[in-house]
Amino acid sequence: MTSIKNALAGLWSLVVGMGITGKYFTAPLVTVFYPRQEAENIETYRGHVELVGKEDEAGVPLCIACGQCARQCPSQCITVSAKVAPADPAESKDGKPAKPKRLKTPGVFQLDYNLCSLCGQCVQVCPVDSLRYSNNVYFAVFTRQETNIDLLERLERQAKEGK
Ligand code: SF4
Ligand code: SF4
Repeated sequence: MTSIKNALAGLWSLVVGMGITGKYFTAPLVTVFYPRQEAENIETYRGHVELVGKEDEAGVPLCIACGQCARQCPSQCITVSAKVAPADPAESKDGKPAKPKRLKTPGVFQLDYNLCSLCGQCVQVCPVDSLRYSNNVYFAVFTRQETNIDLLERLERQAKEGK
């Protein structure tokens, strides 16, 4: 008697399970079969931050290398430093050599995405709107080192690819 009860319970469980499977099998898909298909709403995705280029020079960032974003980042994942122009010997005074000039454009701009919490502080504090969220939805790497992104190199590449 007990074995019949157990068999009926098992059968009922199977029917319930098949009912749930059938329900979701016939429901509209909410995901896509990547890489055969790509999602259509990628522009709404908030990926790692990236630099914004100048309108007339797409590969050159709007960034003035002020360092605000790096100072405000709670996770200390931004490393930025200004490009430095070599000293002009014509500007030397009283026998003292001229100093190299700090330019208002970055020479280094690295993002350690491994540490980033996507809090948006850097985007908010930038005085020239040179940072934004990327829609890099397919960002995938094999090593932790690869999460350290050279944002200058990325911007140049995007400009070349016309993105
Ligand atoms: S989003 Fe937040 S954690 Fe990420 S780089 Fe910007 S300030 Fe840092
Ligand atoms: S991205 Fe903006 S906040 Fe960061 S260094 Fe450049 S200008 Fe300053």
